[in-house]
Amino acid sequence: MNPLTSGPFYQNTMKIVEDAGRLVNLNPNALERLRYPRRAIIVNVPVKMDDGRLKIFTGYRVQHNQMLGPFKGGIRYHHNVDLSEVAALAALMTFKNSLLGLPLGGGKGGIQVDPSMLSRNELEGLTRRFTSEIAPFIGPDKDIPAPDVGTDSQTMAWMLDTFSLDSGYSQTGVVTGKPVEIGGSLGRESATGLGVVYITQKAVQIKNIKMSECRIAIQGFGKVGMHAAIEAYALGARVVAVSDVSGGIYTEKGLNIPDLVRYVKEHKVVKGFPGSEVISNEDILELPVDVLAPCALESVITGENAPRVKAKIIVEGANGPLTREADEILHGKGILVCPDILANGGGVVVSYFEWVQDIVWLFWTEDEVRSKLRDVMYKAFDSVYAFADKSNVNMRTAAMGTSLERLQRAMMLRGAAW
Ligand code: NAD
Repeated sequence: MNPLTSGPFYQNTMKIVEDAGRLVNLNPNALERLRYPRRAIIVNVPVKMDDGRLKIFTGYRVQHNQMLGPFKGGIRYHHNVDLSEVAALAALMTFKNSLLGLPLGGGKGGIQVDPSMLSRNELEGLTRRFTSEIAPFIGPDKDIPAPDVGTDSQTMAWMLDTFSLDSGYSQTGVVTGKPVEIGGSLGRESATGLGVVYITQKAVQIKNIKMSECRIAIQGFGKVGMHAAIEAYALGARVVAVSDVSGGIYTEKGLNIPDLVRYVKEHKVVKGFPGSEVISNEDILELPVDVLAPCALESVITGENAPRVKAKIIVEGANGPLTREADEILHGKGILVCPDILANGGGVVVSYFEWVQDIVWLFWTEDEVRSKLRDVMYKAFDSVYAFADKSNVNMRTAAMGTSLERLQRAMMLRGAAW
């Protein structure tokens, strides 16, 4: 059994590749190559805890494919992180970057840790030592990490600093999603959420719903979910429910998102927001809304709860929030599912913009970043929708098919498949 490819999330991802591969007559050698990540690094990271003990944390970096350019993908800190999950997320990055037309391959990393249980000092120690351990395999031309669940711009600042100290000079291009003061891009923090909303705008048009009349529920109120809520609210949509690890909140008249953001800054969680009703993380997925955006973790909609989902559109802010069984049920119900590799691509698009800005040392305004992002997301949606329409398949198969066509061309040209 291959520990990289045996997990259910990885297997599910490869089934999508096989389905879409048949549609685009994917070359068998190309398929065989895409089935396996190129490389996986496993490190056991010693950390000096505040009480003086030494504790070991296991971390991973999986590099799936680099046919289109350097590996690129986030670093996740979560207690459930495992090797095969990281491999699946790395593979999704390969397909996402190809779909979005970026000159980047796919990678992902993670540490099995609950970051909320560590002090700031311990987190810094963990991040710096992890960076040193994987340093031979990352770099601006090799593999460029970014934030994901449980990590943020501060994590990237520590990674940048450690990598630069080890190299002997400042290497800002080694990570993206870093603070603007040290080479980050304006608009990166909100990019994934904004991308979710650009895709939502396109999807509601298809369903003849006006954005200003749209009712939205968002699971997860972190980097993706919170910014999706802010951007949707700014366009006049009614965000009726949001949730986080503490549970959900709901109000039919729509949540005041700027007030909620201020509340969360102070209280850390959405729970207890004045004027809202309590709703569970399970019930939020079953609300009769126009748009449901799962923006937390994977496999939250399964064969069990999919029959009860009432949204007209699902926009996957998270990676892999639907199981394969759920996907089939929702497609059968006529729900328009905008898949992760399309819908949450805004983050990596602006990460790519950040990497480019770091290379040329010329920084763009936030308006420039947002309008360039909008162009990429609209174009990607249009090509996926056209593929789905032409081939009579769902948006997930169409997104994968579009991505595989580009990857296959690159692999044939490079002689990596024949
Ligand atoms: P984050 O850590 O900033 O936020 C995660 C949110 O999910 C938090 O609000 C947390 O409270 C909530 N949450 C955790 N467990 C939950 C549970 N059991 N039920 C409900 N909510 C729960 O992470 P993020 O960066 O916002 O990432 C969220 C998802 O989006 C992940 O799947 C990630 O891979 C994906 N993603 C992130 C980016 C990015 O740029 N950050 C880009 C593409 C995809």
